[in-house]
Amino acid sequence: MKLVKGIILLALVSIYGCGTAFIRNKEAREDAAKMQAALDAQAEVLSTLYATAETVPVDAIKVDDDAADDPAIWYNRKQSSESKIYGSNKTAGIHTYDLTGKELQFVTCGRINNVDIRQNVDLGNGPVDIIVGSNRTGNLLTMFLIDDEGLIVESSRTDLSLGKRFEPYGFCMYVGKNNTLYAFVNAKTGQIDQYKIGQMSNGDFTGQKVRTLKLNTQVEGMVADDAQRTLYVGEEENAIFRFGAEPTDSTTPILLAESTALNSKVEYDIEGLTLLTSKYLIASIQGSFSYAIFDLDADSYVTSFKIKSNVVDGVEETDGIDINILPMGAQYPRGIMVVQDGFNTNDNGDLENQNFKIIDLVELYKLLNFPAD
Ligand code: CA
Ligand code: CA
Ligand code: CA
Ligand code: CA
Ligand code: CA
Repeated sequence: MKLVKGIILLALVSIYGCGTAFIRNKEAREDAAKMQAALDAQAEVLSTLYATAETVPVDAIKVDDDAADDPAIWYNRKQSSESKIYGSNKTAGIHTYDLTGKELQFVTCGRINNVDIRQNVDLGNGPVDIIVGSNRTGNLLTMFLIDDEGLIVESSRTDLSLGKRFEPYGFCMYVGKNNTLYAFVNAKTGQIDQYKIGQMSNGDFTGQKVRTLKLNTQVEGMVADDAQRTLYVGEEENAIFRFGAEPTDSTTPILLAESTALNSKVEYDIEGLTLLTSKYLIASIQGSFSYAIFDLDADSYVTSFKIKSNVVDGVEETDGIDINILPMGAQYPRGIMVVQDGFNTNDNGDLENQNFKIIDLVELYKLLNFPAD
């Protein structure tokens, strides 16, 4: 049924082209039938992983508020088990957690939708770690330094205006040729702007728009592969596209094979995207409360998995996802995956505010039979 709907939507988009008012799918939280359909579709996904920990729930005005959205993972070079997780709160700012899920910091900085980081980038004043969020309060990119412990340095805040008419949505960062740092930010219109990020001698960050890309309908999830110099963008109700990530690259999108409505495992919306090395792309598939894995060498769909209850509750209707493959102490010898949980419950099954779940990457490698890097 949803598949048919997807094809009809695609047909409508191709008949009317871009610029037509686009009626998006309702999310499960807004529609009981959609919720049931997603649970039914999830039941057909055969592979199951389990989270080992979850973060403290985010602050929200009401328990069922959609507030948590997108994670990022910071690697602690001095003591890897003290690595950190950032989680955007799209009503208020950015949370910082340790690997047990304990909250260490909350930075009130506006309606941050997506967050991403890069470490050890030299913007002219020596190497820094930087976190940036797409901020819907004022249409900004909000940028901060990260300190040696992985905490956000509030006094380092720099806001880059994206313009009155550009309401930011999805966001990711990219380190390209000559170790140049870029930010990609998109709007629901399908427009993706690329900024070159720098830093002045006083420490303030700068941003200069260098390119605009365009897809036809609502986009959000994005991830850049620094090694391959590519950008992946999810068009929520259509497919995943690849672009060259350098500002001089072609602006023509390339369809990632088998990410269309014709693949029954990819049920809309396509949300968060992340990479497991340059070999695999993982996409949060909200229509089946699961995650699809694509092989980027073969440009083919590999398999899907879901995250079910064990020591913490299972995961439903995930927005953002992130992976870091670096070893993080004895508990996470191959790193972690972090996913947003749209329906966080307590041990009694009662709904609580949303949070982020932490998955031992060894479990994902097992699913893929431990491919060589
Ligand atoms: Ca992120
Ligand atoms: Ca989102
Ligand atoms: Ca959501
Ligand atoms: Ca859950
Ligand atoms: Ca829980």
